[in-house]
Amino acid sequence: MNNAIFRRLTALVLGGVLLCAPLAGCQTKPEPVQTTIFAMDTVMNLTIYGEQETLNQAVERIYLLQNALDPNQEDSITYDLNHAGGERVPVSTGASDLLGPSLELCAVTGGALDLTAYSAVQAWGFSTGEYRVPDQSELDELASRIDYTALELADSTVRLPEGMAVDFGAVAKGYAGDLLASQLTSAGVKHALLDLGQSSIHAIGAKPDGSPWRVGVQDPSGDRYLGVLELADRGMGTSGSYQRYFEADGVRYCHIIDPDTAAPAQSGLASVTVVSPSCLTCDGLSTALFVMGLEEGADFWRAHPELDFEAIFLTEDGSIAITAGLEDSFTLTEGYTDREVTVLS
Ligand code: AMP
Ligand code: MG
Repeated sequence: MNNAIFRRLTALVLGGVLLCAPLAGCQTKPEPVQTTIFAMDTVMNLTIYGEQETLNQAVERIYLLQNALDPNQEDSITYDLNHAGGERVPVSTGASDLLGPSLELCAVTGGALDLTAYSAVQAWGFSTGEYRVPDQSELDELASRIDYTALELADSTVRLPEGMAVDFGAVAKGYAGDLLASQLTSAGVKHALLDLGQSSIHAIGAKPDGSPWRVGVQDPSGDRYLGVLELADRGMGTSGSYQRYFEADGVRYCHIIDPDTAAPAQSGLASVTVVSPSCLTCDGLSTALFVMGLEEGADFWRAHPELDFEAIFLTEDGSIAITAGLEDSFTLTEGYTDREVTVLS
């Protein structure tokens, strides 16, 4: 088992303990139904208070979305776009529901989130696991092929200039969280915790006893939870250099690309967690804030109250900063209580 999968499974088990302990004391009906699946390259853990059939339909929806977005699967929107040779390709309503808001996030973050970073993702080997460090001239050339504004979305079609490539890795799980939340809510589910692989979690409602869901925030330098976030009707997204990386000549290269340089982001952050009612916002912004770093990320939070999000910044040197809106919902876990938490305002 590779390291990343092991860490995810460990996190899942820890998460189970963390989440089940409060549930065990709660006798509220109906009982939860739960499943663990492997989808979108990660282990997902779905818990809903509802019917088994409703949960099955949610799982089907995730697999459909996975197939629709997988860059390696022929006929996925991603594959079609990346192999269209600059021609327009049709997009379904579902795909434009993802593309439109994602492009808005690219714009509002000034391109820190950029769906066209995929050429660089591939060049560094993150799409295959065959890692390499491109030289400066290759990086310059790759950076010239990253520009989300070149993606033209109009009249149910989309066009990507030849030589550029997209992927939805930075937003797909968040989008899945929102999609499932609306499907489950329509089916009458009032309480659910959708753990779409650690990096994206969506809490539908609170727990049946009215208390918030409690979700762990991972210590980027270990397998333990550094803190706990209380969530109700909120998504949470985490981007971290520990989630996927390789090391060469003593340097750690992570899977999040700085679109300006086409190289893995080196912003001094080890992870960013974003909390928002929109899971897509959580996912897209956690990636973007990771690229920006603490100072710029904090300024971005101050400048964009309309995006309705809060954030936790964990730096490589071990400091912790949270935005003011999380002061009452974030607590350090045992073993970390001596760490200082800076509250950004
Ligand atoms: P996340 O784990 O949500 O931060 O997303 C990271 C994934 O999105 C990577 O594995 C890449 O496939 C892709 N990606 C990397 N850097 C960027 C970026 N700056 N903007 C958009 N997508 C990116
Ligand atoms: Mg993301």
